Amino acid sequence: MNAMKKNSSNFIKVKCVKCKNEQTIFNKPSTQVNCLVCGEALCKSKGGKAKLYAKFVESF
Ligand SMILES: [Zn+2]
Repeated sequence: MNAMKKNSSNFIKVKCVKCKNEQTIFNKPSTQVNCLVCGEALCKSKGGKAKLYAKFVESF
């Protein structure tokens, strides 16, 4: 039996298209998330649905 239980948290790692900074953000943010380095929008919430502007790297 596999003891490892899959974590259901929805965090993803994205890369800023502007400065290539890698940042971990919530998969479904309710607010806009900006790059901590250059301030570029990584993700914008639009009508309850999050639109990703940064490049997707991996999910956790
Ligand atoms: Zn950036």
